[in-house]
Amino acid sequence: MRYAIIADIHANLAAFTAVLEDIEKQGGVNEIWCLGDVVGYGPDPHQCLELLRRKNHICIAGNHDWAAVGKIDTAYFNPDAAAACHWTARQLIPEDIKYLESLSLILERSEFTLAHGSPREPTWEYIISTSIAKVNFNLFQSPYCMVGHSHVPLVFKEEGDTCSASRFLPNVGLELGKSRLIINPGGVGQPRDGDPRASYAIYDRENKIVRLYRVPYDIAATQDKMIQHGLPVHLVVRLGYGQ
Ligand code: ZN
Repeated sequence: MRYAIIADIHANLAAFTAVLEDIEKQGGVNEIWCLGDVVGYGPDPHQCLELLRRKNHICIAGNHDWAAVGKIDTAYFNPDAAAACHWTARQLIPEDIKYLESLSLILERSEFTLAHGSPREPTWEYIISTSIAKVNFNLFQSPYCMVGHSHVPLVFKEEGDTCSASRFLPNVGLELGKSRLIINPGGVGQPRDGDPRASYAIYDRENKIVRLYRVPYDIAATQDKMIQHGLPVHLVVRLGYGQ
């Protein structure tokens, strides 16, 4: 079985479409695991939800998904994120709202626990340091865990009482062995590691390998739509830098 792991689509249809095409180019997958934040920031929330629903997939809730349907208060968001969230809420059809409301915070699949932010705090916590990763290793049972939320491809490895972190680099297969891991496949629709290309991973269960892919997409097309819709300029500009 092969699985595509995608996180933080953020209503960026051009990036999402490019990733789906790339998945096919890499030989296809049996199922998509989506780690949340399908909507928020970007110009095509309904279109991204509709496209995702057509795929064989599982999905967990991100903070933006639940904020868009009022399950999380946007008072916790920065002003740009809150403005984009209110615009997003107005674009959703009843089927989108029902779908987002029904998402779980944590799912277990195969040897993985899936959470948007972290197993400890699924909607809010960013796993971006070894100290935070270390605490979270004690809070899931499976050998491995996948998270999104930071939009930065990272791998945390549990090593006895300590924990190490490394960048998850494209095309270098990450072999799943005895060490427990927390893996972030980066963000599809708003990368923040300085590389503006969309980021996702494929898990090949038979060969026990997770591989990261970076996919160029039409960034200007997404930016043009965001400007047309009056979405915050900072959110438009950051797509060009991957920050
Ligand atoms: Zn996000």
